[in-house]
Amino acid sequence: MSFSNLGLSEPILRALKEKGYTKPTPIQEQVIPVILEKKDVLAGAQTGTGKTAGFTLPLLQRLFDTKISKNIKVKPPVKALILTPTRELAAQVGENVEMYSKYLPFKSAVIFGGVGINPQRAIIKKGVDILVATPGRLLDLVSQNSLDLSKVEFFVLDEADRMLDMGFIHDIKKVLALLPTNRQNLLFSATFSDDIKKLADRLLDKPTLIEVEKINSSNETIKQIVHPVDRERKRELLIHLIKKDNWKQVLVFTRTKHGANRLSEQLNKFDITSAAIHGNKSQGARTKALANFKDGTISVLVATDIAARGIDIDQLPHVVNFELPNIAEDYVHRIGRTGRAGHEGEAVSLVCIDEHDYLKGIEKLIDQKIQKVKIDGFEVNPSIKAEPITQGRNSGNRGGSNNRGNSSRNNSKGNNRGSRGSSSRNNSKSNSKNDSRGSRRTQGRTSSK
Ligand code: AMP
Repeated sequence: MSFSNLGLSEPILRALKEKGYTKPTPIQEQVIPVILEKKDVLAGAQTGTGKTAGFTLPLLQRLFDTKISKNIKVKPPVKALILTPTRELAAQVGENVEMYSKYLPFKSAVIFGGVGINPQRAIIKKGVDILVATPGRLLDLVSQNSLDLSKVEFFVLDEADRMLDMGFIHDIKKVLALLPTNRQNLLFSATFSDDIKKLADRLLDKPTLIEVEKINSSNETIKQIVHPVDRERKRELLIHLIKKDNWKQVLVFTRTKHGANRLSEQLNKFDITSAAIHGNKSQGARTKALANFKDGTISVLVATDIAARGIDIDQLPHVVNFELPNIAEDYVHRIGRTGRAGHEGEAVSLVCIDEHDYLKGIEKLIDQKIQKVKIDGFEVNPSIKAEPITQGRNSGNRGGSNNRGNSSRNNSKGNNRGSRGSSSRNNSKSNSKNDSRGSRRTQGRTSSK
C-alpha cells in the first residue's frame, strides 16, 4: 500500500515524499479512505501510530476537492476545526498541518491559552481555513466575537479521552453548539470508556469504527525494562545509565513538578545538560527547553505527564520513568514518546519498593511482565521497607496537571475543572499553571500560502 493508492492529490503526495514517508501506517491505511468517503469516524489510536496524518491528510484532500470546485475566497472562513487537549499537542498538530499542506493554498493557525490573545485575534481576522485549538482559548475568541465557527465542515476531536480526563466536557459541548449541524466529525481516542462512548453518540453520525492498537498493547517497537533500585539511589542510577551508555537524548518522567525541577538541577550539577518542563514553567522556558532538547543542546528533558503530551521527537531513543506514574495508562502514554512510527526505542523504569503496586497495575494493563534487569552496584537493599507514596510525591496532581484534572481520571465526567471557570480564562496567570494549556510555541502561529 502506498499513499498514492489512497486517493491523495499530488501536492499532498509531494509534501509526504519530502517528509520521507514511504508508506502509510496501519491507522492511515484504514482511516484515510473512510474520511474521504465523507463518513464520521470513531478511531481508537494512541500517539505514535501516525494518527495525526491519518486525519490531516484526508481532511486536506477534502478541502482541496471543494476548493477546486468553488471559487477561492480571499478571506476564508474556518472550515476545519481540530480540537486538542493540550497546547503542546495543538502546536504539534499545527506543525503537521502546516507541513502536509505545504503545497496547498490553505491557511492554518494554532490557538491556545497562556499567551496573548491579540495576535491570535489578528491572525483569525485575516482568515484561516484550518484551525487547531485548545478549547478554552477557542471559546474566549468566540465570546469576543473574534471567531466564527458557523462554516466548519470538518470537526476533529483529538485525544478525546484526555480531553474528558482534563475536564473539558463542558467546553466541548459549548463548541459543538457553535458548529453547523451538517459537518463531518472525527473522534480520536486512545481508550473507549463509557464517557467516550456517550460523547461519540452525541457527536458522531453512524460512525465507522477503526481501531488499530489498543491502549493495553503497548508498542512492540519499544523495549521495556525495569531496573529495581532503592528509593534514595534513583538519581545516582540515572546518572550512571546516562553516562555509561552515553545517552544523548533522554526524556525523563517524574510524578511532580517539584521533583522534575530538583532532578534537572541535580543532573546539571553532574554535567548532564538538562531542563525541566511542566506547568509552572513560563511559556518561554517551556518553549526553550523543548527546542534545546530537540536540537541536542541539552540531553535530558525532565517532564511531568501532562507537560509531555504532544512532545513528538523523531526517533527519540530513550524514555526513563524516574518514578512510575500512579495511573497505569500514563505509563503507556509516556513510553509512547519513544518507538514512534516504527522506530526502535527503549523505555527504562527505575522502580523502588514503594512502587511495586504501580508496577503490577501497569503490567496488568499492558498484559505483559516487564523484564527486570539488575544493575551491578545498585542491588536493592532487602532491609528497606516499602513506604507509602506520600501526598507530596503523589498528590494526585498528575505530576503537573495540578489545579484541575487531579482526580478526573476516576471521575471522567470531567466536571472537576478546578480553576478553569470562565473567569480564569481571561487570566493568563492562572492559565499558565495548567500544563494542559502549556506550549513550546509562540502564540497564534499561522501559515499562509
Ligand atoms: P502521531 O501518532 O500522529 O503523533 O505520529 C507519530 C510520528 O509518526 C510522527 O513523528 C509522525 O511524523 C510520524 N509519521 C506519521 N505518519 C508516518 C508515516 N506514514 N511514515 C513514517 N512516519 C510517520
